[in-house]
Amino acid sequence: MSSIFQISQKYQEVIDDCEKMAEAVEPFAMEADESSVLYEPVLDALRNSGLSSLMVPEAYGGRFGEIDPLAVCLARESLMRTSSHLDSLFALQGIGSYAISLAGSNEQKERWLPAVSKAEALAALALTEPIAGSDLKGISTTVERKGSDFILRGAKSFISNAGAASFYTTLAKEGDGYSLFLVPADSEGLQITASPEIIAPHVLGELEFNEVVLSENSRLGEPGAAFRHVLATLSVFRISVAGAALGLMEGALREAVIHTSNREQFGRPLAKHGPVATLLADSWADLESSRFLTYQTASLAGEDPAGNLDRSSLAKLAATEAATRVVDRCVQSMGRWGLIRGSKIEKYYRQARPMRVYEGASEVLRLGIAARLVREYQNGP
Ligand SMILES: Cc1cc2nc3c(=O)[nH]c(=O)nc-3n(C[C@H](O)[C@H](O)[C@H](O)COP(=O)(O)OP(=O)(O)OC[C@H]3O[C@@H](n4cnc5c(N)ncnc54)[C@H](O)[C@@H]3O)c2cc1C
Repeated sequence: MSSIFQISQKYQEVIDDCEKMAEAVEPFAMEADESSVLYEPVLDALRNSGLSSLMVPEAYGGRFGEIDPLAVCLARESLMRTSSHLDSLFALQGIGSYAISLAGSNEQKERWLPAVSKAEALAALALTEPIAGSDLKGISTTVERKGSDFILRGAKSFISNAGAASFYTTLAKEGDGYSLFLVPADSEGLQITASPEIIAPHVLGELEFNEVVLSENSRLGEPGAAFRHVLATLSVFRISVAGAALGLMEGALREAVIHTSNREQFGRPLAKHGPVATLLADSWADLESSRFLTYQTASLAGEDPAGNLDRSSLAKLAATEAATRVVDRCVQSMGRWGLIRGSKIEKYYRQARPMRVYEGASEVLRLGIAARLVREYQNGP
């Protein structure tokens, strides 16, 4: 599908490398996307591609000086078009490790980041709990100081990469504040079980911390600084969900265009019947407007991540809501062939749905976006 967006050489190379990796995964993408445990050939493809290096700074084996939100967006667009399993594995390398890049000690960085950059270590971010979801200040996981160690108690729920990850960047209450801790996967007292299966399978698990002993250098940064690091992570990676939504829209629209140009009813291709043409045209309009917003916001996030969190939320909201509309229209334009279990279009239909829930549910994002809008009007142009 052609786009008028101009991509510089630096980013074109990222796209080309991602397309190559996606091509390698294509033969088993349908199977991988039905797996809720790590599908090893996808990990092999990620390792062979070297693309996990987009997720750490150059000083620790990264591809660019700093993690570049536009590069991550473009990568996720290419990967999601082919496989959500691949997209998720790639994205989590950044989502789970960004707080280390940002606030980790030299020792923590040396221990984890070079391995993340080669996808030898897999990362995860553990915020959500059985009770606390959008309201993260309601968590009940705690750390308590014991001599020079920390004791971690509590539970986390719906954690991506659980069971596959090498470490969990974990949000816990420390006294009156909230801090992030690095919890190695082999920690004694850490129990992992599977989360319930969701409509679009995803590597998800429940973590239980039964008196997990963490060494004194397990905290990321200062005590009480967790939300600063979590918001910084979201500033860079929330926008990348919009990138993945673009890939999903492109994949769905491709299926619909091929089907509706080949199948004839009433003597001409479906795509030439006005109402079906409208489904396709409106979908392309949704895709291209989301693309401009996403790329522009990702560029801004590269310059000033924290200052652009609300804009990242705006782009994530717009692109993921658009993806739901697009995939629904594509299914409709394909009639009964849009409904076949195990087809690509049916897979995209299911995969679009969770995007409006994770990394900030749409309704919660709207609260922050509206508050920003009001502030901008109150403060004048
Ligand atoms: C595929 C997938 C992967 C995930 N991976 C991870 C992960 O790796 N790490 C992790 O920590 N978590 C992860 N999660 C959990 C995810 O972050 C939460 O599902 C999300 O934060 C929403 O929380 P909740 O599901 O408890 O919904 P709730 O917070 O219960 O919200 C339910 C509904 O109420 C709305 N709502 C809530 N509060 C308000 C409000 N104040 N105003 C208006 N509406 C409101 C929400 O928008 C939503 O529509 C994952 C979830 C999914 C589906």
